[in-house]
Amino acid sequence: MTLRSRSKLPQTKPWLPQHQSSHVPYKHIAVIGAGIAGATIAAKLAEQGMTVRVFEAAPTFATQASGNLAGNCLPIIDKNTNSPYALWHWQAWQQAYQWWITQENPSQYGELTGAAKWSTIAKTQQQWRDWAEQINQPDKVVWLAQLPTHPQQAGLWFPQGGHLIPKQIIGNLLSHKNIRFYPNTNITKIDLSHGVWQLGSTTATYASDAIIIATGAHTAHLLPDWQDTLFPNKGQVSHLALSAWQQPPQNALSYGGYATPAVDEVTCVGATFEQATPLGLTEAGHKHNLQLLSQAYPNALKPNTTTIGGHSAYRANTLDHLPLVGPVINVPAYKAHIAPYCRQPDRITESKDLLLPNLWFSIGHGAHGLTSAFLAAEVLCAQMLGRASPISQSLAWAIHPARAIFRQLVHTK
Ligand SMILES: Cc1cc2nc3c(=O)[nH]c(=O)nc-3n(C[C@H](O)[C@H](O)[C@H](O)COP(=O)(O)OP(=O)(O)OC[C@H]3O[C@@H](n4cnc5c(N)ncnc54)[C@H](O)[C@@H]3O)c2cc1C
Repeated sequence: MTLRSRSKLPQTKPWLPQHQSSHVPYKHIAVIGAGIAGATIAAKLAEQGMTVRVFEAAPTFATQASGNLAGNCLPIIDKNTNSPYALWHWQAWQQAYQWWITQENPSQYGELTGAAKWSTIAKTQQQWRDWAEQINQPDKVVWLAQLPTHPQQAGLWFPQGGHLIPKQIIGNLLSHKNIRFYPNTNITKIDLSHGVWQLGSTTATYASDAIIIATGAHTAHLLPDWQDTLFPNKGQVSHLALSAWQQPPQNALSYGGYATPAVDEVTCVGATFEQATPLGLTEAGHKHNLQLLSQAYPNALKPNTTTIGGHSAYRANTLDHLPLVGPVINVPAYKAHIAPYCRQPDRITESKDLLLPNLWFSIGHGAHGLTSAFLAAEVLCAQMLGRASPISQSLAWAIHPARAIFRQLVHTK
């Protein structure tokens, strides 16, 4: 590829259709799912003066993937610092930090005042060291021969990294005066009728101008067309009493597993990654979490320590480890239009009918939703209201929901 052609990015990709803003502000917006993805976008739109109804199947908010006591907030390390994967997670982390620092009494939501990350593998250490040098932003990340939390370890120090407390964040976001929360409301059906969306639960129907789907790993129950784009992956965290530690963590720690400072006297240590496993806490899961900790941080815990609980949930993973954020396509119409030319994208023409009007995704946040939901909310809000995007066009394409279906078409052809 010549330099010239590389600098000439196309202005459109018809297989990643863009929402054409109607410039009419939405009056009633529905968000399905009261995890971190749903709460962040609901609050963002509520702040713009819109009325937002948040529907949640469970009796309260933050019960599934966002139901952990606490989680780490850090960027991803990718030696290709310009990949969409690296750029998204870096920018998302910065957005989460901006959100946190601008809150009144931010400490109630966790602490983004420093996080340590280390590995005991020499090759990984060298890669991380090179990565920090390449990033070259010492206010954001530095390689230290002695970590402030663990002077016996060399590793990365993120002055703006830390841990977040999702329940506290979500509860507060949903308390906005323009948000009405509907717990115990499993949305089983959505239909478009004369330009207005109808959301059906087992007991009622709700009309809405626009819908944001933030249903995490459960998305395919509502929208089966998306079944093969999300891969539920069970994770379990373990809880430890403060008294279990020789020295309880004062900062978020990341070492292959992770540990957070105490929330209400309980620390959170994680996490497992399990394929095709039913939900529920297991002894094997706890053992795995404690082993990760003791391998990286010998003698962290007092002898004969036992866990005092935990949480398990499904992460919603995607193949490329980027979320699906943006307008939702009409999958059958999309496949019919795109499939014949998916290997010759230059021949694909624009079509107005590929998008389902005013339907949006913030799903597929995988193992990093506490970090990525804030930027996803900014991106969606800008797209919905026709405002300048906080991310580049190429990054918006990288997270566009349609790319997951497009990829399926290319691979099955
Ligand atoms: C063990 C574990 C550890 C993790 N650690 C970290 C970490 O340290 N840092 C980090 O950044 N991320 C971490 N993650 C990932 C992060 O928790 C998730 O990415 C994030 O919580 C996803 O949020 P969400 O809102 O997309 O999904 P969820 O929190 O799962 O929310 C989806 C909500 O939608 C509701 N819902 C689904 N279908 C319907 C329907 N039809 N009608 C009504 N409601 C519906 C569900 O009940 C649920 O409340 C971890 C995840 C796990 C499981």
